[in-house]
Amino acid sequence: MKIDPPSRHTCNQYVEAGAGAAELDPPAFQLPSGAAGPTAASRRTEWSDRGRILMYHNVGPKEATDPDQLLISASQLTEQLDYLRKNGYSLLTFGEHVSGDYPNLMGRKPVVLTFDDGRENNFRYLSDGSIDPTCAVGVFERYRKENLEWRVTATFFVNTVRSSDPDLSVFEQPGLEMKKIHFLCDSGYEIGSHGSRHHKFGDMDKQQIRENLDDFHAKIDPWLPEGYKIRSFAYPHGSIPSDRALQRIVERYYPLTANTWANPRFKVEGSGGANVPRVEMDSFHLENLERKCPPGAAQ
Ligand SMILES: [Zn+2]
Repeated sequence: MKIDPPSRHTCNQYVEAGAGAAELDPPAFQLPSGAAGPTAASRRTEWSDRGRILMYHNVGPKEATDPDQLLISASQLTEQLDYLRKNGYSLLTFGEHVSGDYPNLMGRKPVVLTFDDGRENNFRYLSDGSIDPTCAVGVFERYRKENLEWRVTATFFVNTVRSSDPDLSVFEQPGLEMKKIHFLCDSGYEIGSHGSRHHKFGDMDKQQIRENLDDFHAKIDPWLPEGYKIRSFAYPHGSIPSDRALQRIVERYYPLTANTWANPRFKVEGSGGANVPRVEMDSFHLENLERKCPPGAAQ
């Protein structure tokens, strides 16, 4: 098995925890009742809309000066939530968006926030048991509390073994994995798979793909709430096997798979919910988000 060289998508950024987090206890979100979700044809149109499935990695207390760090600050992330809420967007999970399994959005525009790699800066508990307000979940929970009329959710594509430190697993705080996963599932977020280690699936054979995904589930399944099934997967490095038969092995584990690249020249032919393109957030300036998700009220 080859070990991936470092790249933009191995995300080695590590952010120290802030202090003084408040205990956040959000109310359970209730989806509005309404008509069924979109048809398969309209979903396909949405997938090709490059502005709608956004890919993030790391969140930290300071603003990034280098986009390659793949690091968005807590204040920038809050600013992006504000923009999306005020410009007619509704947040969905990746699984909801691709499967069409969500109620009528009443004219609001769907957008998905995905976070790859399952780093501690995505979800960190402080020593007093509170959620760090500068991690992704801390930002989301605070925003939810301050904007009760707007649903806050995201999809976290996690690895279960950190190649650089095999003692680290989902969200990198040993012993807290199950607590975090239950919190996310109970609060309406989605847990997706990013494989066991952050290896390129495009370099694997049939047996290696199965071993990677079996290892992933041997580790994470005991931490999942009863009945929770992981149905979404993001290819590490956006590395998709060129052989469609190998892609289908992945799709037997997960009906919904995400690509890393929205650029059509990287697009790999898929079917159903396979190889759905995402948009890499390569800059966290608001103007960049405005280009990907145009402003304007609900449609
Ligand atoms: Zn990744």
